[in-house]
Amino acid sequence: MIENGLESIRTVANKFGSSLLDFLFPPYCPLCKSTTKVADTLCSPCLDLLPSQPQAYCLNCGGNTSQAELGCGRCLGSIDYPDRVYFPFTYDAGIVKLLVGYKFHDRSEWCSLLARLSWSRLERELCWEEPELILPVPLHNRRFLSRRYNQSALLAKELAKKLDRPLVTNGLKRIRMTKPQTKLSSQGRRDNVKGAFLADESVVSGRSLLLVDDVYTTGATVSAAVVELRRAGAKRVAVFCVARTLQD
Ligand SMILES: [Zn+2]
Ligand SMILES: [Zn+2]
Repeated sequence: MIENGLESIRTVANKFGSSLLDFLFPPYCPLCKSTTKVADTLCSPCLDLLPSQPQAYCLNCGGNTSQAELGCGRCLGSIDYPDRVYFPFTYDAGIVKLLVGYKFHDRSEWCSLLARLSWSRLERELCWEEPELILPVPLHNRRFLSRRYNQSALLAKELAKKLDRPLVTNGLKRIRMTKPQTKLSSQGRRDNVKGAFLADESVVSGRSLLLVDDVYTTGATVSAAVVELRRAGAKRVAVFCVARTLQD
């Protein structure tokens, strides 16, 4: 009885608190700054302007193909690529602004918005994938200390909740500091991340995994992680990235 009473008071207080908060600081769309009814959502016009899902690509290596296919001329027979890649967005328009703000400008609160937007496009595919464990692409400790959060780990946490699967952050470590990939050539990216990861066999061996990252460009980082997870005995490695770049 007393517990019920306290619960009601708490509910009223929460309601009052959030409406007061909304009155003082009205929620707004992170892209155009117009006010919204609910915090951390996009307004309808911005939602409509989000980029489409990439149309045709190889479902293993993410490379351009004339139609969606499992294995293309570039990746067939190679162990360097995931069993499946999933991208809800092309790296374009509004999603770039959200991802750049999220990763480089301390807007970690946009994580659940990115996860919700991704989930709305890929819920069925990710549920069919049925991964046993969800892993983020890890940051090196030094980079983690300067950025203060791992953008992939926050996304992985949100997806783990939606899939109701465990989030595992000790299955894969980055053991070598690497240069930022953005200014490197395709081969330079592969060399830069080669041997950068170490997987824990006791965690990943025999398991089917979903590896989560924010952006997929050449796929060099993801490939290095996949190779190491396979070496440690992973049964299947699927990859989820919020956006895929348009080139290559
Ligand atoms: Zn907007
Ligand atoms: Zn391919």
